[in-house]
Order: sequence, then C-alpha cells, then structure tokens
Amino acid sequence: MRGAASKENGRPEEALVRLEGVRKVYREGDRERVVLDGLDAAFPRGDLVVLLGRSGSGKSTLLNLVSGIDAPTAGTVTVGGHVLSRMDERARTLFRRAHIGFVFQSLNLIPTLTVSENVLLPLELSGRLDPAARARALAVLERVGMADRAASFPDRLSGGEQQRVAIARALAHEPLLILADEPTGNLDAHNGRAVMEMLHELVREAGKTVLVVTHDRDLIDAADQVLYLREGRLAPAEEARV
Ligand code: ADP
Ligand code: MG
Repeated sequence: MRGAASKENGRPEEALVRLEGVRKVYREGDRERVVLDGLDAAFPRGDLVVLLGRSGSGKSTLLNLVSGIDAPTAGTVTVGGHVLSRMDERARTLFRRAHIGFVFQSLNLIPTLTVSENVLLPLELSGRLDPAARARALAVLERVGMADRAASFPDRLSGGEQQRVAIARALAHEPLLILADEPTGNLDAHNGRAVMEMLHELVREAGKTVLVVTHDRDLIDAADQVLYLREGRLAPAEEARV
C-alpha cells in the first residue's frame, strides 16, 4: 500500500493524514457547540498515533472527520493526498470503503452474515472481491486467530472474538489507514488485552498507519505519537497532562 500511495501523490515523505485549521461546530436548535476549534495535525505513514481526551472532548468527532463519515465545518482534511473535506458525502463514502478501516467501540458485525462474510464485505462493497483479494482477506482472519470460526455467526462468538473479527474486517481491503475508536471499550480486561495485542502486532508487522482512541497503557507506551484533545485542539500528551 505504501508503494501505491507514494506513486499516487509522488511525495513518499508526505504525512498520510493532514488536518489544517479543522473546525467542527454542531448545531442544536439555535445553540452552537464548538467541538473542534482550529485543530492542526499531521500523521506520518506507518505511525501508531494514540488519541487521548476526556469524554465529550471530540475524539469520535475527529475520527469521523478523518474517516470521511462526517465533514468539518471549516478547514482541510487530507488523507493520502486526497482532500476529503472537498468531497461530497458520496465521494467520501467511496474513498472510505477503498482506503480506510474502522474499528468501532460497539461490536458492530452484521448478525445475519457469517464471520467470513463480514470480513469480505468491505471488499465486496468496493467491488474488489476477486479471488486474490478473497485469499488475502481470509489470511487476515487467520492472523487474528479466527479462521476456524469463519462459518460461525457473530452471536456465537465472545465479545473479544467479535472484536478480533472486526479488526480483520478493518484490514481485509488493505486500507491505507486504520481508525479505532475505543476498540476495547465494551470488552472485559482479558479480551481487551488480547484485542490490543493483536492491533499492536498488526500495526508493526503490516506497517499500517493507525489512529486509535484508547487508554490502554501498553499501546500508549508503544505509540509514535500520543496526542491529547482539549478545548478543540491537539497537544502532545506530556504537555497536556502537567
Ligand atoms: P468523545 O468521543 O471525545 O467522547 P464526541 O466527539 O463524541 O466526544 O463528542 C464531542 C461533543 O460533541 C460532545 O459534547 C457531544 O455531545 C457533541 N456531539 C457529538 N456528536 C454530535 C451531534 N451529532 N450533534 C450535536 N452534538 C454532538
Ligand atoms: Mg467517543
């Protein structure tokens, strides 16, 4: 993926994700809530970035802007040289399906599809379900230790197993960028640990760029950047804590 992306924008050193002057204001009736307020950030390729911040500080909002699920009120969001904030919703959806893997806090596998069908869904949606892609996707399922449950339905799996499948699904289409929003938030400590180890391993082995909201100590220690979101802006976590 690195090679392809470098060719695409011709600047291999360019940050994979760039946020410039990003502002997000939610309107509720005649009230406005400023959540992100002129935020700047750059995430290099291959980095593991951990995002910290209090509940309600805007972490999920930020991830939704980077993934193109939502658009900023003002400012620029660029991923892999593509200016997401200039695209309409449909273009962002297509971009997301092709280039981004998202792991949510809630276990959100599709209950009527088997494990392997869930993992193959992103490829199918982006029209890339050829035999080679299918084999690669199923190899990811192997790597998260869930290949022997390929034919199971999600409700037969534990929370930790479901989240491992969700990670496999986020990786199946070989995305440029993986976003994870409190991926262990709904898991017990033991399952949470297994999922975090998996995520960490995959990042390092596959050289993926990952932006994750988590308070997991080991992942924080392993991160290339730890950022703290406060009052609508990002700061290095060391500065923000003191
Ligand atoms: P975090 O993930 O850090 O807990 P969020 O990004 O979910 O924070 O939310 C940041 C703030 O924006 C909160 O005050 C939340 O209530 C508000 N918010 C989030 N989504 C919406 C929305 N769709 N409409 C209005 N307010 C929202
Ligand atoms: Mg959140």
